[in-house]
Order: sequence, then structure tokens, then C-alpha cells
Amino acid sequence: MTQPFRFEVSATCGAARTGVISTPRGQIRTPAFMPVGTAGTVKAMMPESVRATGADILLGNTYHLMLRPGAERVARLGGLHRFMNWDRPILTDSGGFQVMSLSSLRKLTEEGVTFRSHFDGSKHKLTPERSMEIQRLLGSDIVMCFDECPALPATEDAVARSMRLSMRWAQRSRDAFGDRPGHALFGIMQGGVSPDLREESAQALQAIGFDGYAIGGLAVGEGQEAMFGVLDYAPGFLPQDKPRYLMGVGKPDDIVGAVERGVDMMDCVLPSRSGRTGQGWTRRGSVNLRNARHAEDPRPLDESCTCPACRNYSRAYLHHVVRTGEIIGSMLLTWHNLHYFQDLMQGLRDAIAAGTLPQFVAAFHAQRAEGDIEPL
Ligand SMILES: [Zn+2]
Repeated sequence: MTQPFRFEVSATCGAARTGVISTPRGQIRTPAFMPVGTAGTVKAMMPESVRATGADILLGNTYHLMLRPGAERVARLGGLHRFMNWDRPILTDSGGFQVMSLSSLRKLTEEGVTFRSHFDGSKHKLTPERSMEIQRLLGSDIVMCFDECPALPATEDAVARSMRLSMRWAQRSRDAFGDRPGHALFGIMQGGVSPDLREESAQALQAIGFDGYAIGGLAVGEGQEAMFGVLDYAPGFLPQDKPRYLMGVGKPDDIVGAVERGVDMMDCVLPSRSGRTGQGWTRRGSVNLRNARHAEDPRPLDESCTCPACRNYSRAYLHHVVRTGEIIGSMLLTWHNLHYFQDLMQGLRDAIAAGTLPQFVAAFHAQRAEGDIEPL
């Protein structure tokens, strides 16, 4: 018998929770940060290296994979886990956000969205039913409902119309997903910055019933203060016994603030993307390795970090390979950044379990306020 998808909270501290999501492909410790493997790879990383940083789960993008190489091809090759050599849980998004942010000539109807690929201009259609089919073909462990993401800024009327469309699509997603033991379907709460719309959306989703709930429509340029404003109340509209996922977040201080407010899962391209642009994230904030001050600095990027970039290489070397465009520069900084993000999650989980989250958060902000190490 297939092991069911299960979430257990083991400790809380204020609104924050820590626990474990159990899936047939392994456990996910929460709060969890999911590295983004957009096109079947976390860029510049081997899957075993991603695992070594402490990641329990990856995110894959439906939009990218449906266009290249195509969901049917991935299915013929044994599914996404086998295709990309990652045997642990994978969450796939629904494609809705990328259709909005990347494609062109979009046409939105009650049925779904037609659009042209940003790769080659080819025409495609995504509906709740097709999104569920693609995510099933990929073999995703956690499937996301197909939703509509309104472009910002939007009036409250426009946000309300879009949210209600997403709720009708949530029902169609649920119907199309069917009964798949061991696989989970998450609903996505919308409603912008309106508490009334957020509550209406949360109630509509719970009437349908999902294995977890995402808080959508945030981290789309509204700013941290507005995002935290919504997170002060929105998680409270969702059931206590189901995971809450904040999509597309974020910077380390966004993550800490979201966890304090009761978020269990997050994903962001930030650690991997900034690893390819010479930026390192540490306890002291972000460090631009392109900067000439690192050119003769023999110290590691972060003396307390145990990742290969910090154990074996100097800031001077990282500066050199970033400036010369060597591939190892992207590899080392991506590894370090993912390691730092996973270390941060472990610190948050431990602090929630110990009941010391306020002290952990105070120390987190104090270290960042000190800034990067003194120049030599
Ligand atoms: Zn490191």
C-alpha cells in the first residue's frame, strides 16, 4: 500500500511551526526551503550536491518543462525524478505564474490561457485540466492548482474577479487531479492585500479540500512590509494541520519573517541565480565577489561555513573565477548560497523546537547589521 502524504507539526513557537511532511519519496523537514530546478536542473549543481546542502525537496517549473523537453517526453523517459536523477520529493508549480510573467500574446478565458512560448513563439494552451495532466506526466509529488496571477498594480475589483476565477479553477484542478495516493494537491489562496478577499479565498479552498495550501499573489513586487502585512493574518485563515507554502520567497530576511508568521514551505531562485552573478549570501548579508576588495583576501567567504567553497577556497580565488567568468565560480557560489539557505532553515527549525525563535531572530538581525567582515 502506498504510504499516504502526511504532515505533522512537532513544535510551535508563537505563530511559527516546525514539523515533517512525509511522502513516499522521503520526508521534508519544515520550515523547508526548496531550491528551484526550473528546467530539470538546479543550475550549476549536481543533484547529489543539492542534497548535500540539506535540501529535502526541489521545485520544478511546469511552464518550462512543458515547452522543453515536453511533459510527454519526460513521461516516456520515466518521469522527472529519473530524468533529472533526483529521487526525493519534487513540487511542481502549475505554470500559471510563468505564463503571466514570461509568455507573450496571452489570451485569458474562463476555460484557461492560450499563449506563445517565450522560447520560440509556438502557441500553447494551459487549462486546469492540462496543468494537472502535465504535472502527472512529470510525476510530481506535490502538485499545484492552476491559478491566475493578476498583473500588478490591480484594482480590488480586478483582484476579486481574478481570485474567484482561480477558485473555480481550483475546483476543476481538484476534479482533474482525482485520487492519487501518495501524491498531494495544494490549493492556492489569492486575494491580494485585502483581508476580506483572502478569507473568502481560504474558505472556498477549504470547502474543496486540499492536502496543503499556498499563499499566492505575494512576492510579486509589493514589498516586504505589504507582504508581512498579509502574512500577519492570512495563515490564520488556513487549517492548522496542513502545510502552508509561500511561493517565490525569498531573501533571508523575508524567509525569517515568513517563518515567524507561520509559513512552512518556501522556494526561490535567489540563492542559485545570485550564485551565477558573483553574489554570496552569508550571516552578514550579501557579498559581491566581483568587488576589487576581495582580490587579495585569503580568507573564506564565511569563516563559519562548512560548504566546499568556504572550506577550500579564498575570497581571492572566488573573485578571480567570477571576474574571469570561469564556470567553477557559478558552481562554488551556488553551492555556498544553497548551503547558507539550508543552514538558515535548520537554525529556524532548531530554534522553534527549542522555543527560542525570538532570540534566534534577534541574533540573525544583529549579525546582518554588523555587515561583511572588515577589509584586510
Ligand atoms: Zn560556504
